[in-house]
Amino acid sequence: MVSEPKLHRVYLGLGSNLGDRAANLAFAREHLPAAGIKVLQASPVYQTAPWGGVAQPDFLNQVLLAETELEPLALLDAVKRLECEAGRTPTVFWGPRVLDIDILLYDELTFASERLTIPHREMRKRAFVLAPLLDIAPGLVLPGGERAAACYARLTEQERTGVVLYAETLSDDEGERL
Ligand code: ADP
Ligand code: MG
Repeated sequence: MVSEPKLHRVYLGLGSNLGDRAANLAFAREHLPAAGIKVLQASPVYQTAPWGGVAQPDFLNQVLLAETELEPLALLDAVKRLECEAGRTPTVFWGPRVLDIDILLYDELTFASERLTIPHREMRKRAFVLAPLLDIAPGLVLPGGERAAACYARLTEQERTGVVLYAETLSDDEGERL
């Protein structure tokens, strides 16, 4: 007997600071399903002001809730492939860092290997992850029992105000598909 593959709920963190940033995030949302990752919910898009005096374009960030049958390392392979594909689209020109896709959470899993750490190592400290994450999952409890909202509350005011709303909603037709 073949057992039913299990569906896993995952939160993904998207980021882009090169090229057409909003289009790069849209590229991820549009291509995840073909990779076996069905997007259930998409947060608003936030813009993160640069800090530390390094001149670089602002990041756009978004968090997605998705479901997939892929096991954690296969999911990592799939999102890395998509990052590469985004870097090679003709409209995008500047190379490989046009799209970053991080696996934030995978069910209730805690996992650490050389290539992959879940929950994502930095997520508790990053306002640009926590703000969009809390928009779509305000009551979220992280593995180990801590609330995502408590992590956000611990950030400094400067960290929180550095992340500003960029776009509230997706285009109508995309919103209807989710
Ligand atoms: P960044 O830290 O800016 O996201 P990269 O996207 O280049 O940088 O990621 C570097 C490496 O981090 C990846 O090649 C991957 O093996 C590893 N990694 C560890 N944990 C995770 C995770 N939860 N999600 C995505 N990548 C991860
Ligand atoms: Mg990454």
